[in-house]
Amino acid sequence: MNKRFWKIIVALLFALAAFLMAFSSCAPQSAVNGAEPAEAPSEEAPSAVPELAPSGEAEAPASVIPAEEEAEAAPAPEETQEPAPTPEALSMEDMTPAERAAAWGLPAPPENIDLSEQQFKLANTYNSITDQRPNHSYGAGVTVDAVAADAFNRFVADAQAAGYSVVAFRGYIDYWTALENYYEPEVYAHGAAYAASVTLVPGCNDHQTALGIDLKLGSGYSETGSDFRGTEAWDWLVEHCKEYGIIVRYPEGQESWYGYACSHPAHFRYVGEDAARYITDNNITLEQFMLLYDWHALYVPGVN
Ligand SMILES: [Zn+2]
Repeated sequence: MNKRFWKIIVALLFALAAFLMAFSSCAPQSAVNGAEPAEAPSEEAPSAVPELAPSGEAEAPASVIPAEEEAEAAPAPEETQEPAPTPEALSMEDMTPAERAAAWGLPAPPENIDLSEQQFKLANTYNSITDQRPNHSYGAGVTVDAVAADAFNRFVADAQAAGYSVVAFRGYIDYWTALENYYEPEVYAHGAAYAASVTLVPGCNDHQTALGIDLKLGSGYSETGSDFRGTEAWDWLVEHCKEYGIIVRYPEGQESWYGYACSHPAHFRYVGEDAARYITDNNITLEQFMLLYDWHALYVPGVN
């Protein structure tokens, strides 16, 4: 009896335990599920906000990434715009002498050029000088600056030695001579506008630099040079002048650079050998040569 009784008790206990376990495994679930849905809306709402915040932060990075992409996209058009300023940087004013020469289709100019040196003193229709006291000397029998005297002496002597009766007949002209002997007589006779069209306004005459001379053939030839071009003597002078640092100051057809009133073919000008070779070989004017080195070289008011 005792064994059977205990077996029944144990069985009942197992059955009770099984029932309790079954009940507890269901009851807590229904209790949690039932409680949480009721409390979740109220209690999890505030906790849901911070959760949304992280999710919002998660979205924020998501929105930051596009923002970064936009930021990366923004510089991209700027990078595509950077080539645009590059052409502006290539304006003639900002260029080196070699770059300016290339822009004009010219070879690289000599590097040892200093426009402040005496042989680059500029007088033309558009740039007036008033210097009255150049360093006088004599070249080919006329008054010139000392820096040019030896070159003119050798130039004319060698032309004569080559068989051409070349002589210099005009060198330095001071300001008052240019005014009283050349300009004012035309003004008195025909008016200022006419005078300025046929001769040089005082200050604009290359002869005032003492770096230019007028040549002519021997007696029987005019001093205007109109019958000088085309002669064998002219051809010799044009071919060899650069060897002496001398140029044809007023090349035919390029009057727009120096002014029509300046032009006379017999005028030769000293600029130094490097400059003379470059100017002659490339058929440019002194004005164009100076622009290669200083984009503002052609008009410097008050300096000269
Ligand atoms: Zn002259």
